[in-house]
Amino acid sequence: MSLQSASVHAPSDGNAADASLRFGPTIMARADVLAAISEDAPRVTRAYLTPEHRQAGETIAGWMREAGMQVHWDALGNVVGRYEGLTPNAPVVMTGSHMDTVRNAGRYDGLFGILSPIACIADLHARGVRLPVALEVVAFGDEEGVRFGVTLIGSKAMAGAFDASWFDRTDPQGVSLRDALRAFGGDPNGLAGLDRRGSRVVAFIESHIEQGPVLLGKDLALGVVTAIAGATRVRCMVTGLAGHAGTVPMGKRRDALAAASEMVLAVESHCSTHPGLVGTVGRLTVLPGAVNVIAQDVEFTIDVRSGVDATRLEAVTALQAQCDAIAKRRGVTLSFEPFFELRAAPCDPRLQEHLAHAIAAEGLPVEHLPSGAGHDAMEFPAVCPTAMLFVRCGHGGISHHPDETMTVQDADVATAVLLRFLETFQPS
Ligand SMILES: [Zn+2]
Repeated sequence: MSLQSASVHAPSDGNAADASLRFGPTIMARADVLAAISEDAPRVTRAYLTPEHRQAGETIAGWMREAGMQVHWDALGNVVGRYEGLTPNAPVVMTGSHMDTVRNAGRYDGLFGILSPIACIADLHARGVRLPVALEVVAFGDEEGVRFGVTLIGSKAMAGAFDASWFDRTDPQGVSLRDALRAFGGDPNGLAGLDRRGSRVVAFIESHIEQGPVLLGKDLALGVVTAIAGATRVRCMVTGLAGHAGTVPMGKRRDALAAASEMVLAVESHCSTHPGLVGTVGRLTVLPGAVNVIAQDVEFTIDVRSGVDATRLEAVTALQAQCDAIAKRRGVTLSFEPFFELRAAPCDPRLQEHLAHAIAAEGLPVEHLPSGAGHDAMEFPAVCPTAMLFVRCGHGGISHHPDETMTVQDADVATAVLLRFLETFQPS
C-alpha cells in the first residue's frame, strides 16, 4: 500500500496536514519541540543530568499526564508514566526509549520510542479503553553514555545490571555521577528499588528508528528485530622492523603497516562473505609514522558484531588465524587481544510473532532484521521477554547526525502497529 512507498526524504516539514494520519503529525511536532531543548541549539545535544535533561523530561511528563498516565521521576532521572490496566495490580507491559542524545544528534533516535507509545496511550485514554495489562512508558535519562562514559544507565538499573561503582565515574569537568545525580534531585541509594527483575513486568517493547539503510533499501516502513547484535572488540599490535625507506630493499622488509593492511582487508573480506556478520577496523596508529621510515609498530582495533553469538565467536577465531598467518608470512609479530565482549540480546520469538501479526494487520509486509546498534531493549531480556520494532530512516539511513529523518507516514503506521500490539497483547 501507499505507506510503503511513502517519500523517504520528508524531514519535519513533511508534516503537511494529512487528515488520514492519526498519530504521525503530533509525534513529528513533538520531536521538533524536544529537539529545541538542547545545550547548543540549533544543534541537538542533550546529556544526562543537565538542565536540558530536566526540561525534556518535564515536557515528556506533561504529554504523559495529558495522555492519562500517572508520572514520576525515578531515582536515576528516568521519567516513568503508567496507564493502569483493567485491574489494579495487572501485569505490566513496558515500553520506551531514551531522551538523551549524542552530540549534534538527530531528533528521532530514542525520542520516537517515547513519543509513539504516548500517542498510543492518548488514543486508549480518549476512547476510555483499559487493557488486561498496565502500560508503562519510560523515558530513559541516559542511553548514549555521552557524559559519564557508561551507556544504558537507565535500562541497566531496571535490569539489575548497574554497577554501583559507576557512581564514582566523572564527567570531563570532574563532576562525579553521584554528585550530579544528587544535584539533579536523584538518589544513588534508590538504585536497588529500580530493579524490575521478578516484578509484574511481562514484556518490554521498544520502537526505534533503524539507524541504518536496510529497510529504506527494501522500500519497507517497518521491521521486526530478531536480536540486538553482540560485539567483540580486539586490540591488535603488529610489530615489524623500522628501516630507511630508501635503503632497505623491498624483499628484505618487515613492514608492520603493509602487514596490518592485509589484516584489515582480511576482516573486511571475511565479514563480507559470511552472512550475519559485520566487521570494522575503525582505528589504526602507525609508529614511528614518518614519511621516510618503514613502519615498525601498528596498533589497530577490530569490532565484530552479529545477532548470533556463535557466528561472532567463530569469526573472531577465524580472524585471529588469518591475521596470524599473515604475520608469519611477513615476518612480523602479532598480539591479538579481545578487550570487550557483549553478548547478543535475542528478541523473544513469541513477541516477534505478535509484532509481525500487528504489522501484517496494517497491510504491510513483514521483514525481520537484526539490530547492529545497541538499544535500551538489550538490557531487558534479564527482566522479561523483549521485542523491538524498527522504523525506516531516510537519507540513506543516517543517524547520530542532524540529517537523521523519518517520514510522518512511517511515524503514523509504526504507532498504529504499536497500538495494535499493545491492545491485542494477552499476558500468558
Ligand atoms: Zn537510540
